[in-house]
Amino acid sequence: MEGNSKNKKNYPVFIITALLLVVLYNTFVIPAVKKTDIKETDYSFFLEQADNGVVSKAEIGESSIIFEINDKSGKKQRYSTARLDDGQLVDRLHKNGTVDFTGSIDKKNPASEFILSWIFPILLIILLWYLLTKGVNKRMNGIGNAMSFGKSNAKIYVKAQTGKTFEDVAGQDEAKESLEEIVDFLHDPEKYAEIGAALPKGALLVGPPGTGKTLLAQAVAGEADVPFFSISGSEFVEMFVGMGAAKVRDLFRQANEKAPCIVFIDEIDTIGKKREGNTGSSDEREQTLNQLLTEMDGFDGKKGVVILAATNRPESLDPALLRPGRFDRRIPAELPDMTGREAILKVHAKKIKADSNIDFKTIARATAGASGAELANIINEAALRAVRNGRKTVIQSDLEESVEVVIAGYQRKNAVISPKEKEIIAYHEIGHALVAAVQKDAAPVHKITIIPRTSGALGYTMQIDEGEKFLMTKEEALARITVLTGGRSAEELIFGTCTSGASNDIEKATQLARAMVTRFGMSESFDMIALETENDRYLGGNTSLICSTETAAGIDDEVNRLVKKCHEKAAEILTEKIDKLRELAGFLLEKETVSGEEFMNILERQPSHTGNENKIF
Ligand code: ADP
Ligand code: MG
Ligand code: ZN
Repeated sequence: MEGNSKNKKNYPVFIITALLLVVLYNTFVIPAVKKTDIKETDYSFFLEQADNGVVSKAEIGESSIIFEINDKSGKKQRYSTARLDDGQLVDRLHKNGTVDFTGSIDKKNPASEFILSWIFPILLIILLWYLLTKGVNKRMNGIGNAMSFGKSNAKIYVKAQTGKTFEDVAGQDEAKESLEEIVDFLHDPEKYAEIGAALPKGALLVGPPGTGKTLLAQAVAGEADVPFFSISGSEFVEMFVGMGAAKVRDLFRQANEKAPCIVFIDEIDTIGKKREGNTGSSDEREQTLNQLLTEMDGFDGKKGVVILAATNRPESLDPALLRPGRFDRRIPAELPDMTGREAILKVHAKKIKADSNIDFKTIARATAGASGAELANIINEAALRAVRNGRKTVIQSDLEESVEVVIAGYQRKNAVISPKEKEIIAYHEIGHALVAAVQKDAAPVHKITIIPRTSGALGYTMQIDEGEKFLMTKEEALARITVLTGGRSAEELIFGTCTSGASNDIEKATQLARAMVTRFGMSESFDMIALETENDRYLGGNTSLICSTETAAGIDDEVNRLVKKCHEKAAEILTEKIDKLRELAGFLLEKETVSGEEFMNILERQPSHTGNENKIF
């Protein structure tokens, strides 16, 4: 579409160029071709030659004569001269032996002359033009072509095209409220103008990956009855400096033409990163960002162009982008809480055939920390499992299994593990579970399994908190580290050795203990001092130290002390419950998967030799 309207605009230019070319062709090319070997002379020279009898050929036209002379060396030379009214000319030529003379040239066919010098070149130019533009259009539709540099490539969505509405987004109520206001403003700007309220020019959706930022923007497109331009930040990054800036300009030009409208820039951090002093490396990005800043200042907010952007690295954005008048509104898209997860599961369950009595609350409880995308994936995995098992509807156990698939990968049913190793794994997992069950600050055990998973886990213990947790107390943190060390403790206690199977536990325990010391102020040697900062909170949180090297050594000592204390405590608990440890490990070895309920039943059961005594009471 874009290409066609461009061509129409260019028609006058095309016609003028074509005419100019034809005129040039006629004034220079045609005469040059015709004249190549013809010399102009005067009439008297012609008569002289004719009298000498060397004219071998003469074409006599109405106003000119072209004749040929055979000179002495035998070469032929053509001349032209004006024709005078000479009655004896024919006689004279005849007498002097001119071989042939005709009366044709000036009476060139005027039609063929016209076609040759005007129609033919015009047709040729049109043909060329057609071929060229066709090629260009084709390439413009392709991606990343030289001809499309500087064009924004923004996709325009209108209502029907995304097919998404706010109904499709669950659990992001605050975000939806903010965006609904923007949609409302675009529908009825007067309502806001009356009070004198100005809506923000830009709103920034921030949150971890998979929380529905892109989905929210698509829903806005579905809700708003206005054009919706969507482009990803990476599309601005071009090979050549300056092209990204040109794209930004083009995007805003289009948006201004179509106002009121919404412009959505996904993954804005690719162009919006903080500008740095050291130049050279990122010229292109910087120019693009500068252009974006300029454009955002330049357009009139009242006209109704609203810019949405999404990112999961808000702290890396250039402060200039975040100042009032630009992206001054921040719309958080956080990981969903329990009710949010339940709602998201239900939204996605509508797309599949599910049993009517599925308990989504249980699934929501088991998926603390999962993002919307992961929950959508869980529903899909459940549907796949139902098909695999030859069922027509999805049932509860499909969902429960798929939670584990998403957390730990598929079961590796045919993995060969020696009985000895299997035993170690069973003790390891029961070690975790026992330590968890005994401590009151640890989350209850939900499930223990020693079926290996494709993620590499040889077994795992699932713990599920009863309610939603937003804070973690020091006791809870310590309890969690203790649970993590429980696996290794069991190996040491029973087999007197340790295995590499605890590597993941060690990693997690260290991470938590470190966070306690450096960020939560939960250690004995440091007070409320920030020793580390978190860099990408929404992307798993890399941290960097902000303390002296001596303090860093102190941190390591403190972390080690914390974990050691927990490890000792776990060993203590297990030594005390060593009978239960053996009993439960045996049970797990036999069943491979044990539910939290079965586990607690065995744990709380009195030892069998006292069973008879129990009956007395
Ligand atoms: P991001 O925040 O990384 O842009 P997306 O918007 O691309 O995440 O989300 C990916 C997918 O996850 C969506 O297409 C949708 O299926 C699902 N999803 C994420 N959040 C939600 C939500 N709040 N409600 C319903 N589905 C969601
Ligand atoms: Mg996204
Ligand atoms: Zn473990």
